[in-house]
Amino acid sequence: MGTSSPEPLLICEHCDTVYRRRRLSRGDVAQCARCHAVLERHHGMSSNTLLALVLTAMIAFTQANLWPIVTLGLNGQYSSATLWGTIITMWQQQAQVVAVIAAATLFFFPLIKMLSFGWLYWFARDGRRAPGFVPIMVTMHYLGPWTMSEVFVLGALVAIVKARVYFEVTPDPGIYAYALLTLMITVFASVDVRRLWDTTAERPA
Ligand SMILES: [Zn+2]
Repeated sequence: MGTSSPEPLLICEHCDTVYRRRRLSRGDVAQCARCHAVLERHHGMSSNTLLALVLTAMIAFTQANLWPIVTLGLNGQYSSATLWGTIITMWQQQAQVVAVIAAATLFFFPLIKMLSFGWLYWFARDGRRAPGFVPIMVTMHYLGPWTMSEVFVLGALVAIVKARVYFEVTPDPGIYAYALLTLMITVFASVDVRRLWDTTAERPA
């Protein structure tokens, strides 16, 4: 195992042709010779770059959750609301489905993604697999299709439209922290996490 094992195989997801993987250098793109689908891209980002990105995203995430995201006005009375304040209000206003969607897409999914990224790439720095590697990779696979940028925009629209029925709504700094977070998570979405199956090796504990 380890250094003596041959380069891993790569299968075209579109036509099932099998290739032996080659090491790509910066800017390289591996293409399927039969159907021209993109097999793999080289990413300039090292594990350390990704970790720095995760850390920055965590800071934006914390601010997005601590700062008020909207000011709600009702009968001339104004109050700022944080994400969780808004979710709780929506829940109490019989908008439970929206409250659950907002909590999942704006809080739990990004949090799980960032923690998983950080955990996996922390160990990947020296080619190791993080404890819980397989279940985390499976979770990431299922969370994958939920790219947060689209979900965020959708969630925010639904929430604001829904809230406007009851309140005057004005955006606050927290919403901009969320916008920043959304941009950063779009960068994560371009990282092919599946590469970790090949670039990390299981070591005896
Ligand atoms: Zn192909």
